[in-house]
Amino acid sequence: MAEKILVVEDESKIARFLELELKHEGYEVELAFDGRDGLEKALRGDIHLVILDLMLPMLSGLEVLRRIRKTSDLPVIMLTAKDDVSDKVGGLDSGADDYVTKPFAIEELLARIRVALKRKEQHGRKNAEELLEAGSLVLNKTSHRVTCNGEEVTLSKKEYDLLEYMMENRGIVLTREKLIEKVWGYDYYGDTNVTDVYIRYLRAKVDQKYNLSYIKTIRGVGYIFEDRE
Ligand code: CA
Repeated sequence: MAEKILVVEDESKIARFLELELKHEGYEVELAFDGRDGLEKALRGDIHLVILDLMLPMLSGLEVLRRIRKTSDLPVIMLTAKDDVSDKVGGLDSGADDYVTKPFAIEELLARIRVALKRKEQHGRKNAEELLEAGSLVLNKTSHRVTCNGEEVTLSKKEYDLLEYMMENRGIVLTREKLIEKVWGYDYYGDTNVTDVYIRYLRAKVDQKYNLSYIKTIRGVGYIFEDRE
């Protein structure tokens, strides 16, 4: 699927030129000629990168950028007037990924687009590895934080380890012995009933509190984390 680039530029000659060049490179292109329309299109969800002119009618490029950054990390490349250093700094401070000064060489802009898209892709992959999600339940493996409906779920170390292991192995029946081995470690010599106790804690803090039923008992075998009903 072609990546879709939104060009927000009120000078139609530049906008059309960019549209032509970007399409030639194999991108899909959408145009917006003022800041308000640009912002609306940028937040619609199908855009992969925004080329954003600084001086725009309705909303300035900087204001558009600020509002995009409130909710999104969409790559944004600012187009700024030549030598306008303070605008560049302002743009980068507000979260632009890069900027290109007018008049620009199309090859330079294309190179920066490739870099910004690549960076976004790598970042996306990294995030996918760090987050385990089941509906509104989100476990962040990097920060060890768990949220449900955006609310922080406070778990003890063992409760967290147990939930992480179960979410990583969702859909698989896990025996008490397996859970002991993976969560408590090989050197744990206590009763395997400790898993029942911790499953009960987790259910109280996650399933019961948020009216979910992810942690299921498989009678006589163990437990399973299932996010499908
Ligand atoms: Ca302009």
